[in-house]
Amino acid sequence: MNFVNYTYDFHIHTALSPCAEEEMTPNNIVNMAVLNGLDLIAVTDHNSAKNLPAVFACAQTKPLVLIPGIEVESAEEVHISCLFPQVESALEMGQLVERHLLPMKNNKEVLGSQYLFDAEDNIIGEEERMLLFSTDLPVEEVFAAARSLGGCAWFSHVDRDSYSVLPILGALPAGLATGVVEATDSPYGREFVSSRKDLKNKEVLYSSDCHRLKDMSRGTNVISLSEERNQLTAETVINWIKEKDMR
Ligand SMILES: [Zn+2]
Ligand SMILES: [Zn+2]
Repeated sequence: MNFVNYTYDFHIHTALSPCAEEEMTPNNIVNMAVLNGLDLIAVTDHNSAKNLPAVFACAQTKPLVLIPGIEVESAEEVHISCLFPQVESALEMGQLVERHLLPMKNNKEVLGSQYLFDAEDNIIGEEERMLLFSTDLPVEEVFAAARSLGGCAWFSHVDRDSYSVLPILGALPAGLATGVVEATDSPYGREFVSSRKDLKNKEVLYSSDCHRLKDMSRGTNVISLSEERNQLTAETVINWIKEKDMR
């Protein structure tokens, strides 16, 4: 079987995330990804999927595959990247997450605005609910919800000191299939991963967690898939991740 290397960045925020820069519009993200030589990107805003339809429309016009995602914050304040084969299933996950978020209003003067875009980068509204907050869903329930909607989930930025599974829970939870984890695309992220015995058998995906364009990965991280370039879809990638998760 022939394998093809695909470059990726599976952790990118739009300006719907209050901590992201206003330059993180659908077209800017997609164009920067193409400039950086990325084949695959996942857009994962905090606790919301609402900008995915616009990003998907932009990505469709480029040699780029968008994996629709959400970065969910669990009840324990652990960040979990949830990725889906279609925008619709990500939106469904977004609705579930919304039902489990405290109904607090965003304070945009303090935290930043939460912009909703159309595919031409027009601001079509602002999310009123504060997205930078934990849900009341325990880690296990976040994974279960993503998987029941046909998606996959992994712990985000495991090398970080905050909002990260290892400092908060002390270890990867036993009994949860976590064949894949994410570390930040940085020398520290790599060093951290090689220092941890419990990550030895994991498939580690290095992503930028970028909140501004200049931090997006530069196309140096790859996954190898048997799929031909013209056949590549988000679903192919999700299936590859699911296989790794079962190990
Ligand atoms: Zn995070
Ligand atoms: Zn993030």
